[in-house]
Amino acid sequence: MAHILLRHRDIENIRKLDIYRANGGYEGLKKAVTDMTPDDVKNVVRASGLRGRGGAGFPTGIKWGFIPKGAEEVYVVINTDESETGTFKDRELSEFNPHQVIEGAIIAAYAIGAKVIYNYFRGEFMDAAYAMEEAIQECYAHNLLGENILGTDFSCDFHCHYGAGAYICGEETALINSLMGDLGQPWSKPPFPALEGLYAKPTVVNNTETLANVPPIIVNGAEWYTSMGTGKSAGPKIVCLSGHVNKPGNYEVIMGATYRQIIFDEKYGGGIPDGKAFKALLPSGGSGPVITEEALDAPLTYEGLTEHGSVMGSASLIVMDETTDMVWAALKMSHFFKHESCGKCTPCREGTFWMERVLKRIYAGQGTRRDIEVLGSVAQQIGGRTLCALGDFAINPVLSTLKHFRSEYEAKIRETNEILLTAVAIAAD
Ligand code: SF4
Repeated sequence: MAHILLRHRDIENIRKLDIYRANGGYEGLKKAVTDMTPDDVKNVVRASGLRGRGGAGFPTGIKWGFIPKGAEEVYVVINTDESETGTFKDRELSEFNPHQVIEGAIIAAYAIGAKVIYNYFRGEFMDAAYAMEEAIQECYAHNLLGENILGTDFSCDFHCHYGAGAYICGEETALINSLMGDLGQPWSKPPFPALEGLYAKPTVVNNTETLANVPPIIVNGAEWYTSMGTGKSAGPKIVCLSGHVNKPGNYEVIMGATYRQIIFDEKYGGGIPDGKAFKALLPSGGSGPVITEEALDAPLTYEGLTEHGSVMGSASLIVMDETTDMVWAALKMSHFFKHESCGKCTPCREGTFWMERVLKRIYAGQGTRRDIEVLGSVAQQIGGRTLCALGDFAINPVLSTLKHFRSEYEAKIRETNEILLTAVAIAAD
């Protein structure tokens, strides 16, 4: 089946405007601005069931509908600050199929009445940035951006902004703060960006992949889109596959494919190298709970892993084979979240620090059984008590490895440590 999002895999040089247009590019925009009202566009996107591809899965059409009608100054912001561990789909889209993202963003701007689009780009993605900037210039030169787009009275500008590589700037309010030149930290909602976002004006923040879905939806209609996938999870999804698989990379699948298919089928991951056995999967990069073999037949959908205590998130699958030390894996993730915590709220700032510290002790064979309890307790104290979702993300690898692989933690505990601890306790008495 031809790709819907990763179209550059089928059509050479589709990053160039003439090739993109020769293959149906900007027909969605043309249809939107000449044949449809902004409400029509919102209704089609809402009926398609398109949900945010950055991880949260909020319905896109409903998000657009939150923007107050008739607001004077409204913004579309593209979130290309792709920072989740094991996620590299938005970079590929931006580098090799940038016009589909730009077209989706212009349609979004038309739908909500925005005259300016900002693309917040991860600063390290320079190759992708060059391709995106080139595509923007092509659009200005061909009346697809700027004044009176395609001869209509709709005008819109497009700017790219390059972040400095902070994971937290993928959170929409931190991203907006950073875009305004402020410290990249989240704010406590409300106010929600749909009412007070960029420069305190109504703002829609959409993920890059989400917007790439919009042009084909406008061209082909909502029913075409809902015919793919499952009821609540429609359409295609780009899966980022990494870790212990024979063929890591991005794969476009229709929602509902199973995790087992994606890891083991020859057209996707092709199985585990060297005939080793599967051990565990991080299904949404470092931020979702690990799953084990018994969950692999679950469908890749927003709800598919609920009964297994995990989430699809941005669909960044990090595969771990039988040789993986799960305490080491939890430590790596904890280090990441401690490093990326913005420090604004205490449970996250202090808790991620202590989780990493205790994990280091256990991994080094210097921990005690009580450290395992302390680790679980610290994680529980963070959960649900932080300003943004990073705090909850940080505890997922810890709590889920404690749940599924507790024996690996216990195997690192030295009895001598227990004796020492007891001696210290007696001396303290
Ligand atoms: Fe910052 Fe962490 Fe608090 Fe989020 S949860 S605001 S990243 S300190």
